[in-house]
Amino acid sequence: MTPARFFTAITATFFLCVFTFAGRVSAEDRPPNFVVIFADDLGYGDLSCFGHPTIRTPNLDRMAAEGQKWTNFYVAACVCTPSRAGLLTGRYPVRNGMASDKKRVLFPESTGGLPQSEITIARMLKQKDYATAAVGKWHLGHLPEFLPTSHGFDSFFGIPYSNDMDRVASKGKHRDLILNPKVEYFNVPLMRNEEIVERPADQTTITRRYTEEAVSFIKKEKDHPFFLYLAHSMPHVPLFRSPEFEGVSDRGFYGDVIEEVDWSVGQVLNALRKEGLAENTLVVFTSDNGPWLLFDQQGGSAGLLRDGKGSAWEGGMREPTIFWWPGKLKQGPVHDMGSTLDLLPTFAALSGAQKPEDRVLDGYDISPALLGTGPSPRQEMYYHQDVELYAVRSGWYKCYFKTMTSYIGQKEPDVHDPPLLFDLGSDPSEKYDIAAEHPDIIAKMRELAKKHLDSLKPVENQLEKHVTN
Ligand code: MG
Repeated sequence: MTPARFFTAITATFFLCVFTFAGRVSAEDRPPNFVVIFADDLGYGDLSCFGHPTIRTPNLDRMAAEGQKWTNFYVAACVCTPSRAGLLTGRYPVRNGMASDKKRVLFPESTGGLPQSEITIARMLKQKDYATAAVGKWHLGHLPEFLPTSHGFDSFFGIPYSNDMDRVASKGKHRDLILNPKVEYFNVPLMRNEEIVERPADQTTITRRYTEEAVSFIKKEKDHPFFLYLAHSMPHVPLFRSPEFEGVSDRGFYGDVIEEVDWSVGQVLNALRKEGLAENTLVVFTSDNGPWLLFDQQGGSAGLLRDGKGSAWEGGMREPTIFWWPGKLKQGPVHDMGSTLDLLPTFAALSGAQKPEDRVLDGYDISPALLGTGPSPRQEMYYHQDVELYAVRSGWYKCYFKTMTSYIGQKEPDVHDPPLLFDLGSDPSEKYDIAAEHPDIIAKMRELAKKHLDSLKPVENQLEKHVTN
């Protein structure tokens, strides 16, 4: 070999080694996968591990036993659309136009949606080359510029808004159709990416099909970091379940539906175990808001919490939440405060992705509480009922400036001056107003509320945009 050839060979070998080394990501270096399983209108008291006496949820119970059950975990809003916007952006929905007093959520005639200027968890994780999939209910805008594929997700399989929308009016009244549901009563589309692939969506098999989609995504992306957002349509009414789950629960129709969602969680966790991904995947299970109490036995239960969906009382916004990451999480129940708002900053910290720095974020990195290295940094929570701030929690104290029940009948909120004060540590059902005994705490709460309200800027309301005839 001539000296020149020898030099070329040595150089080529050197660069080959460098690039091979640089291109190989060891298991240690690979950032964790994230899976968010988001139920719709599931109540705080609807899982066996959260105290339900007849609904059986063995997969969620095992998930909680192997991981962490959070008992003070909140969503950003008490109804679907704003709650989802809060989870995916780490910002209270009043900051991005996704809350409204007039239209509480998006409807099929809406023309607004989550603005392009917002950075979702999926878009943030693209910095680290994550594969991303949204499966299930979206409800952040159904026009092309608002769909998951325009917000950082590589794919979408699901319904663009709630499963009770697009009601076929000729079939009867909304409530009657909901309580005696048939697939043909609700002309909801099932979409793959930007295309409608089925209409009406066959909702009897929808939980099973979302699950199959989720499992096949996990298998496909097993060699690659991924983020799976699996937002079940159930147990939002109208209720549907597969034939295999008909009549399985002593809790009746609603129990059947929850037990199918529980089966789905088992399928997802088993897929992660089978692919050898369990030790490198953080899974979160929670719900978008509390139970829809207006639908009697077809709505869920908030357990010992007061009220439900649509209300800033605890039952509307505190959700049964479980984190799972075998070998990484400190096992056991967590009573610290957490929120879906915290997922974006936590995933940023765990993946090494840069969280957005040019805007107000309302979430905290709660990884110390997950990993057992410290407490949750969240010390306060602001409860908006639509646009208005109704209450503030700081530590165990929750102070209400306004209250409104989710039940039909109350048109305007009750305004409280002086405010109401509850100690959620000793009174989780919010029965005993102790404001008169704690003027100092009331003063501190007023201060927190003012600071929070001062941080809000006027934004274009997305929920009030709609097609005009
Ligand atoms: Mg909901």
